[in-house]
Amino acid sequence: MAPPFPAGPLNLVLRGHIKELIQRQSSFAPVPLSAGPMIATSFSDLGLLPQLLQAVIDKGYTEPSPIQAQAIPVILQGLDVMGGAQTGTGKTAGFTLPLLQRLAPHANTSASPARHPVRALILTPTRELAAQVAESVRDYGKHLGLRPGVVFGGVDIVPQIQMLRAGVEVLVATPGRLLDHVQQKTVMLGQVEILVLDEADRMLDMGFMPDIRRILALLPAKRQSLLFSATFSEEIKRLADNMLHQPVLIEVARPNAMTELVSHEVHPVRRERKRDLLAHLVRTQNLQQVLVFGGTRLGVNRLAYQLQKDGIHASAIHGDKSQVERIQALADFKSGKTPVLVATDVAARGLDIQELPAVINFELPGAPEDYVHRIGRTGRAGSTGRAISLVCADEHEKLAAIEKFIKQRIPQTIIPGFEPDASGVSALMHTERERPERRPDRGSSLTRGARAHSVKTPAKPVDSIFSAPYVPSKAVTPAAEPERTGPQKPGRQVAALLGGLRKSG
Ligand code: AMP
Repeated sequence: MAPPFPAGPLNLVLRGHIKELIQRQSSFAPVPLSAGPMIATSFSDLGLLPQLLQAVIDKGYTEPSPIQAQAIPVILQGLDVMGGAQTGTGKTAGFTLPLLQRLAPHANTSASPARHPVRALILTPTRELAAQVAESVRDYGKHLGLRPGVVFGGVDIVPQIQMLRAGVEVLVATPGRLLDHVQQKTVMLGQVEILVLDEADRMLDMGFMPDIRRILALLPAKRQSLLFSATFSEEIKRLADNMLHQPVLIEVARPNAMTELVSHEVHPVRRERKRDLLAHLVRTQNLQQVLVFGGTRLGVNRLAYQLQKDGIHASAIHGDKSQVERIQALADFKSGKTPVLVATDVAARGLDIQELPAVINFELPGAPEDYVHRIGRTGRAGSTGRAISLVCADEHEKLAAIEKFIKQRIPQTIIPGFEPDASGVSALMHTERERPERRPDRGSSLTRGARAHSVKTPAKPVDSIFSAPYVPSKAVTPAAEPERTGPQKPGRQVAALLGGLRKSG
């Protein structure tokens, strides 16, 4: 049975002009539950069809998450929604269940493709997220008889064309591949009744705005639109203003590093001993499913390779892997076949790996907000998790920025046999006092006004691990470091990588 979501602060359900709402939100104190609208505490109070309730029971959910409790009744009414929520909040079911219910009257068993036009379009920034959302649509809709489908780049387009020709009512897509289909006239969007833009902030980060505009122009003006985003930058607000009509703003607290369900640990260590320490932790702490974050594609490849050589079954996931390799790596990790998955930040975003017990930061991220994103993989949906960081002396600035960002000092434990050198210890011990002022570089969060801080990345010392040759298992070319950035915002780490290359997306 899936653990229930912890009750978190939620609480804004308002309607009106989106800019006004967002501008006003900073002055809103969260409305206490008792003073707010009635929030359903069980799925059966939400007015869902028996077939959907059955699907929820099949999934083992016992109660709706905060975003589900708020979004489902609103979407069932046919209203537009601006959702401040990220992966891990249960937002997928929050929009999929009511969307399916609204389309349920169209379910039919006709073999004619004309009876199965695309009626709901769900756009996601990455292929992995598209695949996951499509799986959710399939799971939640399995008793209804609507046809789900998914299209994303990096895989053969022909089976997608056949699927689209046969007819699909709920289509999940990444923007680039959807436009490929539009161009080839293999998909028609003229009968779309519901549009969902999932992880809109990442879409914009990845340079999808022009594609989204093109797609919006192909949709009927009269439709229901739902936009979900973890952060609300000016650009998102403009998009929301264009795309949404009198939206209801629904905000839930981000499931982030501040949750008590995640314990943070720092192990100070010399850089050249990090790999040994990682292997030691995996072996001695019974870490049976651990997502390890490296900094670059090359580093991630090498680390996975070296772990394999150490006898630890590990695979790598990053933007240079083919789609087939990535799907395989993820499937093996999820099934427990590969206990260690080494990933770049971009590759790991949006991955729904349930109840992941531990995340290890082999390298600390450059932006503190990415630490929170990484930690979002663990301690999710009510389960507990560990966030372990292996920190060497030249990462003390990054650690200080993270601690400031999450408003917590992270306990440091030196593992015997992996002691940092003396300068490393003193650098780490002084993170608080030496913290320099930093420049925010991301959109503010609806919930916390959260900001990322740019951190000067110290020159990387020569490292025996990372200078060792990488021998790819297949014909995979290791990318130059650091990760490539996207077509629109060359400086952004999150730009146009996994599934985000516009032609292949
Ligand atoms: P999402 O934020 O949509 O990616 O969902 C995060 C995870 O929570 C997924 O693994 C879902 O299967 C799970 N989940 C969604 N809704 C619930 C619920 N009401 N109770 C327990 N788990 C849930």
